[in-house]
Amino acid sequence: MALASRAAARLLRRRSPLACLQQGKSTAAVAYEEDEDYAPEINVTRTRPEAPQPDRKPKPYRSVADDAAVRAATQACFPTRNDWTRAEVQAVYDQPLLELIRDAGACHRAHWDSRDVQQCTLLSIKTGGCTEDCGYCSQSVRHKTHVKPTKQLPVDEVVESARRAKAAGSTRFCMGAAWRELGNKKKAFREILEMVSRVNAEGLEVCATLGMLNPEQAKQLKEAGLHAYNHNLDTSREFYPSVIKTRTYDDRLNTIQNVKEAGISVCSGGILGLGEEEKDRIGLLHELASLKGGHPESVPINALVAVEGTPIGDSGKAKRVDVFEMVRMIAAARIILPKTMVRLSAGRLEFSQGEQALMFLAGANSIFNGDKLLTTPNPEFDSDTQLFQLLGLEGLKPNPRLEHKAEGGHAAARA
Ligand code: SF4
Repeated sequence: MALASRAAARLLRRRSPLACLQQGKSTAAVAYEEDEDYAPEINVTRTRPEAPQPDRKPKPYRSVADDAAVRAATQACFPTRNDWTRAEVQAVYDQPLLELIRDAGACHRAHWDSRDVQQCTLLSIKTGGCTEDCGYCSQSVRHKTHVKPTKQLPVDEVVESARRAKAAGSTRFCMGAAWRELGNKKKAFREILEMVSRVNAEGLEVCATLGMLNPEQAKQLKEAGLHAYNHNLDTSREFYPSVIKTRTYDDRLNTIQNVKEAGISVCSGGILGLGEEEKDRIGLLHELASLKGGHPESVPINALVAVEGTPIGDSGKAKRVDVFEMVRMIAAARIILPKTMVRLSAGRLEFSQGEQALMFLAGANSIFNGDKLLTTPNPEFDSDTQLFQLLGLEGLKPNPRLEHKAEGGHAAARA
């Protein structure tokens, strides 16, 4: 039988096992009789004797992250250090990506309960009209954008927003005012102090971002119950002048220092996609790791949301940040600043749920909820709830003491 017709005959037989059975023969037997080249496929099902089942209750599954000895040993591998050199930060940052994610995940699980994700709400209490020239910002008076300046919100309205944020699962409430500095704005400041005090009384961590502060203002905010102050470094010292010209890097560091000295936690991070190079991201991480008096309690990592009318948005230099760049930055931040909250901030809407999952795996442990972050869009509350359910994440519970250590990290970090 020609090879081709043998193959065709085999195919036909395989398609009609019923015909073979009707002859009282197996398909293999019929095939063998008709085709001396036929080699049957071996497809034997054996019945295995039942393995004896041990007579005991099933052991509950314990994640390795819950093992105290593993955690202690892993913590020792990722200590909190204030003496990072830039070359060391670069060595962490340059790891092959999957190795970096694995290490950052181990560090995260050693220092934190990695299922906990803090939800924060950011409210713009005074939008637009800022005299600074930050090249990415839609709120600067120097840029023609869609943002219309508004007056400061009334205190009651802010407190009401804070209550809604708490009911939606937020444990931190951040109030942002678009100012170069708090300066001599006496009435506005009086109202802000009242907002801080009343939001604090709602049992929320209160954070504010009001531009540059002097030591006395920082002290008054602390006395009113301010928990944290946000003042981003944005990028490296070298790249900073390409983004902002109206105040210096050292101005920013001075405000951070005033905040620290008043006993307020520091929230300071950066923005990816401004046109910076990797060395600038490394430079930013190194600055944050070297802050006088210890690491910031919180580091927001933003992906630029380019806005029409801003110099960076219009220059064509703004680069869409991809998920792997975000993940690399988050993972490096997690290892270099092990007890710091790493917050997924602006630009989260650009990333799919799968991409955000990778960011949580790399050590991010906070998000901003609500459909707006100051003036940029943010995922809807429902989609975050669904994401949390899907990934088995839980909103961080409110800290009953609202007591945080500036250097030691967030109160929820494992000791
Ligand atoms: S200081 Fe803040 S509000 Fe003002 S331009 Fe810069 S980023 Fe915008």
